[in-house]
Amino acid sequence: MIDSYGRKIEYLRLSITDLCNLRCKYCMGEDGVCKKDHNGILSIEDMTTIAKVFHDKGVKKLRVTGGEPLVRKGFDTLARNLGEIGFDTLAVTTNGILLPKYAQTLLECGFSRVNISLDSLDNQVYCSVTRGGDLALALKGIEVAKDTFDKVKVNAVLMKGINDNQIESFAEFGANMGVEVRFIELMPFESSLDFARGKFISTDEVVSGLNLTFVGEEGNCRTYQFADGKKVGFIAPKSHKFCPSCNRVRVTADGKLLNCLHENCEYDLTPFLADETTLSNRIDQVIKRKPLCHNIYEKDAQTRPMSNIGG
Ligand code: SAM
Ligand code: SF4
Repeated sequence: MIDSYGRKIEYLRLSITDLCNLRCKYCMGEDGVCKKDHNGILSIEDMTTIAKVFHDKGVKKLRVTGGEPLVRKGFDTLARNLGEIGFDTLAVTTNGILLPKYAQTLLECGFSRVNISLDSLDNQVYCSVTRGGDLALALKGIEVAKDTFDKVKVNAVLMKGINDNQIESFAEFGANMGVEVRFIELMPFESSLDFARGKFISTDEVVSGLNLTFVGEEGNCRTYQFADGKKVGFIAPKSHKFCPSCNRVRVTADGKLLNCLHENCEYDLTPFLADETTLSNRIDQVIKRKPLCHNIYEKDAQTRPMSNIGG
C-alpha cells in the first residue's frame, strides 16, 4: 500500500480493547473506561479479518495494543489467529502485569517483540501515575518477558517533575536487565490535558542537561550514552516529527481506521467487514487520505483518549 506521498504502509497497530487494568494519568481520565461506554467493540473474528486483509495488502508488521491488550476476553484465540496469518513480525505493547500469564501463549503464537510500559522505578510514583498500579507486578512482567523473548523494550513517558530525574536509573535498570529503555515525549490528548499541563519536556532538553553522547538511531528512536557507557533511547514525536517516514496506520477496537495518531479523523471499517474485497477497497480509499504531517498542539489535541487508540 502506497499513500499519496509515496510512503509505503507496512505496519498496522491493532487495538483489541479499550479496557485496562490501570488508569495512567497521561492516558485516561480518573474514571477510566466505564464498561457502559465500552460499546461496539469488534469481535475476535472481525479483528482477525481486518488483520488478514491488511496482511494481504502488504502489511508486514502487526502490533497488538489497547487499552491493555492482555485483558481482552478471547485474547488466546486472537493471538492464535494472528499467528496463523503469516506476518513477518508480531508485536505487543503491554503494561506487563499479565505477562506472567500470557508470555508463553504469545511466544507460541509467533509474537517476537514485546514493549512494556513502565514510567517509574519508584513504587510511590508508579502507583500515583498509574492510579493504583503495583510496581512489583510490572517488574515481574518484565522479568518474565526477558526470559521468554529475544526482543524486549521498556517504554517510559517522559514527564517533567515526575520521572525526568530517573533517566540514569532507567539506563542502569536497562543495562542490568538486558532490555532497551526508551523515553517517549508526552503527547497531548483531551482526556489527560489537565494532568499533562506543565509536564512536557523535550528530549533535547533532557539530553543536553545530562550531557549525553549520541550513539545511533533506529527507526524513530535516538540512542544516547552516559559517560560510563549505559544507554538510553529517546523518541520525540512532538519536538522531532518523523512523519516523512511514517509507515503505520491504526485500527481501533471499535473498528475505526486512523491514518495518524494526531489527526481527529477516523474512518469506520465496520460497514465493510462482511466482504474482504470491499474492506480492501475501503482501506485503499482511506490510506490515500493519510496526511503528510501531524500537528500536535494542545489546542487541537486528539479527542479520542490514547487508551482508545493504542499508542
Ligand atoms: N496498555 C498498554 C501499555 O500501557 O503499554 C498498551 C496501550 S498504551 C495506550 C500504549 C502506549 O501509549 C504506552 O506505552 C503508553 O505509555 C503510551 N501513552 C499513553 N498516553 C500517552 C501520552 N499522553 N503521551 C505519550 N505516550 C502515551
Ligand atoms: Fe492502560 Fe496503557 Fe493507558 Fe496505562 S497507558 S492506562 S496501561 S492503556
